[in-house]
Amino acid sequence: MSARILVVDDIETNRRLLEARLSAEYFEVVCAASGQECLDIAGSKAPDLILLDVMMPGLDGFATCRQLKADAKTRHIPVVMVTALDQRQDRIKGLEAGADDFLTKPVDDIALFARVRSLLRLKQVMDELRLRDGSGPVLPEEAGEGPVRGRVVVIAGDARTGERLARKLPAGVEARVESDPKTAIETVEAGADLVLIDLTASQFDGLRLCARIRSESVTRNLPILAVVDGDAGEQMVRALDLGVNDVLARPVDSGELAARTATQLRRARYAAQLRDRLHESLELAVTDPLTGLYNRRYLASRLEQAIDSFHRSGEAVSLILFDIDRFKSINDSYGHGAGDFVLKAFARTMKGELRAIDIAGRYGGEEFLVILAGATAGAACEAAERVRAAVARQTYSVKATGEVLKVTVSAGVAQLDAGETASRFLARVDAALYEAKTSGRNQVVCARPKAA
Ligand SMILES: [Mg+2]
Repeated sequence: MSARILVVDDIETNRRLLEARLSAEYFEVVCAASGQECLDIAGSKAPDLILLDVMMPGLDGFATCRQLKADAKTRHIPVVMVTALDQRQDRIKGLEAGADDFLTKPVDDIALFARVRSLLRLKQVMDELRLRDGSGPVLPEEAGEGPVRGRVVVIAGDARTGERLARKLPAGVEARVESDPKTAIETVEAGADLVLIDLTASQFDGLRLCARIRSESVTRNLPILAVVDGDAGEQMVRALDLGVNDVLARPVDSGELAARTATQLRRARYAAQLRDRLHESLELAVTDPLTGLYNRRYLASRLEQAIDSFHRSGEAVSLILFDIDRFKSINDSYGHGAGDFVLKAFARTMKGELRAIDIAGRYGGEEFLVILAGATAGAACEAAERVRAAVARQTYSVKATGEVLKVTVSAGVAQLDAGETASRFLARVDAALYEAKTSGRNQVVCARPKAA
C-alpha cells in the first residue's frame, strides 16, 4: 500500500529519522518543520496521513490538529500525534482535538507501520465512497459534531470485566455485555453500531471473533475497538492487520475509551450516510422516476458501449424506438394522471415481452428506446411486434367516467451498420418510427440498411 505521508516535527533529526524509516517501506514522505508549514502543505499536497509532533514552538500539535480538523479541505486526513509524553491528559487532549491516533517517542517500528496501514486502509475506503458520492474532498460538518449515540456490544471473558468496561463508555451509548462468543456473534449480527472486544480474555480467541465479524457481509463495516495487553505489541499489530479499527491498551483509561468510542461511532455514522447517499444517487442517475426504467442519459452511454463492442466483436446490435399513439389526446381528454398511468402500464407490458438482457428505457415523453445486443433486425422486429400486439390487446377503464380506453403503439426498428455512429443509428430508427406513424400507426417498421 503506497501513500503520501506528511511528517511534522520541529527537530530536523526526528524528521530525517521518520522519513528514512517510512521511505524504506516505500511510502512517499513530505516534511514540515512547523504547525503552520503543516497546514500549508496539507492543503496543497493532499497527504494520505499526517504524523504530527505535539511539542513545537508557535502552533503546537494540538492547535495544528484542531485547525486541520476544522477545515473541510483537510478534515478527512487521518492524524497521528507523535509525543514524547505518555501522559493521559495529552492523549485525551489530542483525541479531543480530533487526532485519530497516538504514537509515543521513541517511535517503535512495529507500532508505527501497523497504525499507518490501518489508518490508510480506512482512508482508502472513505476516499472511494467520497469520490463516488461526488462530494469531493469535503467532509460534512456532522461528521465531527453531535452527541455520541449508538449500540455498543461489549465482548469480554466474563460478565464482571464486561460490566467494568461498559461503565467506562460515554454517556448516551447503549451497552450490552456478552461473554459467550456464540451469543456475542448473534447479538452483533442482530444490529450494533460498535463492538468493544477484550482481546486479553483467556476464555476465547478474540482475534478469531474479530475475523468472523469482518468476514460476514452484515457486519463487515461495523467498527471494532479492541482492548489489548499493554506489553503485547504483537497482539496489537495482528488486531490492526485483521481490520480492527482501533486498539487501546490495558489498563483502560475511561477518558481515552470514551474519546475513542466517540470517534469510531461518528466515523461509522458518516460512512453509513455516504453509503446511503451513494446508493440513492446511483439509482437517480440512471432511472426515470415515473416508470422506473432507465433514463435517456443511461441509454446513451449503453448505446455507445454496444457500438464499441460491435466494432470489436462484430456482434449485431439493434434498436427499437416505441412511441405511444395519440398520447397527447389521452392527456388532453383524461388528464395527466391518466397519461402517467398509461406510460407506467406500457413500461410494464414492454418489459414483460423483452429478454432480460435487453436494455429498455424512457427516451423522451412517450418515446421508449430498447437496445438489443446480439439481435438482428429480424429478431428485433419480432420483439417489437410482440410488444405492439400485447399493448393492442389491453384495455384501461377510466375511473372517473367508466369509459374504456384503448392504447396502441408504433415502433421503428434498425440494425447497426458497419461504421455507423450512434447519432446516425438513432436517426435511422427515428425515421422508421416516423414511417410507422405516418402510414397508419399501431405497426412496426424496419429501417433499410444505410445507403452505401
Ligand atoms: Mg517537538
